[in-house]
Amino acid sequence: MTAQFNAATFADRHIGARRQTDVETMLKAVGYDTVDALVDTAVPNDIRQDCALELAPALSEVEALAELRKLAAKNKTAVQMIGQGYYDTVTPQVIRRNILEAPAWYTAYTPYQPEISQGRLEALLNFQTMVQDLVGLPIANASLLDEATAVAEAVLLMRRANKKNDGKTVLDADCLPQTIAIVKGRAEALGFEVEVADLSQGLPDGDINGVVLQQPGVSGRVFDHSGVIAAAKERGALVTVAADLLALTLITPPGEQGADIAVGTAQRFGVPLFFGGPHAAYMAVQRGLERSLPGRLVGVSKDSAGVPAYRLALQTREQHIRREKATSNICTAQALLAIVASMYAVYHGPGGLKAIAETAHGHARTLAASLKAAGLDVLHTSFFDTITVRIPGKAKQVIAAAAAKGINLRLVDENLVGVSTDETTTEAIVAAVMASFSIVAAHGATITQDTDGFALEAAVERSCVYLQHPVFNTHRSETQLLRYIRRLSDRDLALDRTMIPLGSCTMKLNATAEMEAISWPEFASIHPFAPDSQTAGWRELIGGLEADLAEITGYDQVSIQPNAGSQGELAGLLAIRGYHRSRGAEQRNICLIPASAHGTNAASAVLAGMKVVVVATAADGTIDHADLYAKIEAHKDVLSAIMITYPSTHGVYDADVREVCDAIHAAGGQVYIDGANLNALVGLAQPGKFGGDVSHLNLHKTFCIPHGGGGPGVGPVAAKAHLAPFMPGNAASWTEGHDVPISASRFGSAGVLPISWAYVKLMGGDGLTEATKSALLAANYVASRLDQHFPVLYTGEAGLVAHECILDLRELTAKTGVTAEDVAKRLIDYGFHAPTLAFPVAGTLMVEPTESEDLAEIDRFIEAMITIHAEIGQVANGDVSLENSPLRNAPHTAAAVVSSDWNRAYPREQAAFPVHSLRQDKYFPPVGRIDGAAGDRNLVCSCPPIEDFEN
Ligand SMILES: *Cc1c(COP(=O)(O)O)cnc(C)c1O
Repeated sequence: MTAQFNAATFADRHIGARRQTDVETMLKAVGYDTVDALVDTAVPNDIRQDCALELAPALSEVEALAELRKLAAKNKTAVQMIGQGYYDTVTPQVIRRNILEAPAWYTAYTPYQPEISQGRLEALLNFQTMVQDLVGLPIANASLLDEATAVAEAVLLMRRANKKNDGKTVLDADCLPQTIAIVKGRAEALGFEVEVADLSQGLPDGDINGVVLQQPGVSGRVFDHSGVIAAAKERGALVTVAADLLALTLITPPGEQGADIAVGTAQRFGVPLFFGGPHAAYMAVQRGLERSLPGRLVGVSKDSAGVPAYRLALQTREQHIRREKATSNICTAQALLAIVASMYAVYHGPGGLKAIAETAHGHARTLAASLKAAGLDVLHTSFFDTITVRIPGKAKQVIAAAAAKGINLRLVDENLVGVSTDETTTEAIVAAVMASFSIVAAHGATITQDTDGFALEAAVERSCVYLQHPVFNTHRSETQLLRYIRRLSDRDLALDRTMIPLGSCTMKLNATAEMEAISWPEFASIHPFAPDSQTAGWRELIGGLEADLAEITGYDQVSIQPNAGSQGELAGLLAIRGYHRSRGAEQRNICLIPASAHGTNAASAVLAGMKVVVVATAADGTIDHADLYAKIEAHKDVLSAIMITYPSTHGVYDADVREVCDAIHAAGGQVYIDGANLNALVGLAQPGKFGGDVSHLNLHKTFCIPHGGGGPGVGPVAAKAHLAPFMPGNAASWTEGHDVPISASRFGSAGVLPISWAYVKLMGGDGLTEATKSALLAANYVASRLDQHFPVLYTGEAGLVAHECILDLRELTAKTGVTAEDVAKRLIDYGFHAPTLAFPVAGTLMVEPTESEDLAEIDRFIEAMITIHAEIGQVANGDVSLENSPLRNAPHTAAAVVSSDWNRAYPREQAAFPVHSLRQDKYFPPVGRIDGAAGDRNLVCSCPPIEDFEN
């Protein structure tokens, strides 16, 4: 497009290597004259799309933001008192600006490389500690996707852990309706029974595997669970309590009442309503259940110098390793939102949180007492922040009266209205709510402060302390907190400092203009159950994005509800399952999955009630055809689907994908194309057109939602028309049917959708296609420059790769002992985040530069890799021993390099400044190489005593 370097359009700013001379340099290295010639050779002809993307012309940043302003103006903010799992909250500005809106936090990757992730690992450990303290259980994970799916995960955990009792799962009728729907949807696919019963009346008859209670219930009622919990345990059941963290500052924690598991959301700890998400859910368990825990868990270990250091613990539970035997399919979770919630606790401390809870509770009591004095029927006397009022036949009238005052209440049914107070409730709001009820009240609507009849039941009053750790009691001034936040982020490497060349993860630019709208109140302050009349702008934005994604993928229908790639997989597989069943083919339950697939694929197939059959990989990295056809033949009557990643996880466009799809279809199966690698396809080929029936995409990869240090994500599911009736339904109103809901709220992680919406609008069809081509060019440039040092494992047509390449270190390792991990850690000394390590092939590194990196940055990476290759050469020829090499001793901390007992076989300069440019811009990791195994042997997953971290 642009011959001279003239950053005129957004695409020029999004794409790193835009200067014609840079493009020529890269093309020359790859051996092509033009980018199109390279692309035409790399992408198989028979999958190429024949016409350009029909999307609206590209907008400038100013224009896109003006469009977003218009959409925002079509939403109406209100005082949100609907409750039902979502409560208004104040995000402290210091946290909003310096975490939620700060690239050092939001552009970070999941902390799999712990040495460059100590800051966010500490913040997540704070989150775990906060949850453990509040719920009274010893082990909490570092977030799950949302409350309803967290309950579903807890139900599955109970079924795994309580194998001797395969009775039904019992849910209290006072659980959130969206929770009940999600659990029922999961249970149907897995074939276990769920019963919903009013557990305040005792347990139902029959064998019970596990029980789920909600505290407070959706009606607001807080009742003493200890009796039901004891009865359940007596009968051999495990018990989960879904609990509100703010309420727990006042009421007895579930752990103390005997619960085995606690789950819930941390939303109201400073995370905006976001029209339903993203919010961090949590899960905590009793000791003994930690190996069955889903989600990531931060633990404390030591580095090579014996210094305490954080890293992810018990990773063998995860789908990357355990695949179909994993504890869960969840990969991307809600790290950034968990960090916000943890900082909210750091900001307020135990006293501040308690004060917020008491204020909300006080307002709810005032309201209840006043309504009662007015002659109305308030259902429960023991509640935290939510009251339910009975007004036979007149609920809609009251809701309308409140709406006229700008207040949203909850319409439970024709006779019941729910009101939830929160951190933002004021006396004036209480008075306005009261006035809304006055139309149905017998005795006027005066406010009374005589609330004695509405105290919490004595049995549930919390007596134990919480958040005593210094971190929750130190950063009281804003200066302290600002510096704490900054200190943590300075320990980490994120995209704001360096390229993150992680294959399969597409760590590309998250443009500031794309991020801008997410915290506008007209988007951020909308309750997911607000009436449609207040959410027109949101729904227009979402509908538009879904339509654009359908155009890009070549499918007929898109749902953005799944809030991670793993959830998109589950949604797509459940659609396939529903489709087969609707045609009377219940027996079709085999899912073929290539050996190289992402671990989530196998774990999701199991959750969809399918049986995984693995298909072998051929020597050239493609699907082994002989094995594929043998397996199709062996299972043809029971074949449900194949899941293939395209381009494959080997970073190559398999030329025969159409043939594979045809063979599956001929056997009556459906084709699931994992679209997480869509960055290699946008504008060039459409999975919906080359054989796929359904796909998921990862908006947090291809479509610029930042990775957030491990979430949020959005994993839209896209399908052909025949699967459309099986797309996810709305959990809050779902009863039963084909459209199994996947996430708690209808639009999943709606709050971050303006980012992807803006990306598509800013790029336009041509810009998106250019981005894909640039990503191919960058990957092939890296491959051709590095191949002579680290052989590229798999290539496709004419020796080209797609958008990423696998560097094979196995031969070097065999010769020298230097491992891919040594190289990954040594890259830290050069200021880089490592490429993907050991996936999809052990002993390799997978590099994905993306289109956003400029040539100088890519060359800096190549220089680092070539210099590291020379260091490996010194080990190979015996100049240094492996044990005493800079590779095995990497990464080097400042403390190690300046230490007066330096006794290594290489100079300090080589340790810290192996290339000259580092002298100006040096990142020192705060810890040396971390011993993960030691941490797993001695599991510590809460904030350690402060003295451990001194000196
Ligand atoms: C990232 C990825 C996934 C999983 O996505 P999450 O959002 O982390 O759940 C699935 N498949 C492939 C190929 C991926 O790269």
